Amino acid sequence: TEFTSPPIDSLLIENIKLARFSKPTPVQKYSVPIVSNGGDLMACAQTGSGKTGGFLFPVLSQMYKNGPAEVAEESNVFARRKAHPTALIIAPTRELVMQIHEEAKKYAYRSWVKACVVYGGASIDGQIRQLERGCDLLVGTPGRLNDLLERGKISLSNIKYFVLDEADRMLDMGFEPQIRHIVQGCDMPESKERQTLMFSATFPKEIQHMATDFLNEYIFLSV
Ligand code: AMP
Repeated sequence: TEFTSPPIDSLLIENIKLARFSKPTPVQKYSVPIVSNGGDLMACAQTGSGKTGGFLFPVLSQMYKNGPAEVAEESNVFARRKAHPTALIIAPTRELVMQIHEEAKKYAYRSWVKACVVYGGASIDGQIRQLERGCDLLVGTPGRLNDLLERGKISLSNIKYFVLDEADRMLDMGFEPQIRHIVQGCDMPESKERQTLMFSATFPKEIQHMATDFLNEYIFLSV
């Protein structure tokens, strides 16, 4: 099997070819049709399985098909300077979010999708300026995302694709309260309906509970 359209958008296929990938890994092969059919996904996948493409390919493919989101006009001039991303990807560490962002930029090449990254341990002002220039796909660590939400720099009302990467590691690092707070922000009455993709290397009880809480009827994929 190869990368073919449909269900993958043709621009994305071009960008995947530029990355010199000729065929999808198993997690990539299965995640694309699941997400394009509107489903939620719980994937058990290790680093090295191509899991980053496993969520970036279906999410970007759907974003390209649907086109840019309409941002509701907010009366307050300052509120308009918030970022209104369509996709939000949470991962445990600065290294990981930077890596995901680098991949996202490759697959978003020549498209309208602006990918941004936020993480702790770095100046927040530069990240705020980046968000103010527009952001369609946001990658971040849980703590810094919460900080920016509290400062009113991010609106989650447009989120249609929500990804938790390395969910087991995020729990081990004690990020569950921050993650739950972000999920609540995606579930406000004015929010768009979202699809959720959870990736985890292991599938212990705590992750099963999170999957029950955060996902609607989901497909379980183990690669
Ligand atoms: P990941 O599991 O997402 O960390 O990816 C592991 C490595 O595999 C990364 O260096 C990717 O660039 C590479 N990779 C991802 N998808 C493919 C693919 N379809 N074909 C070849 N290499 C890939």
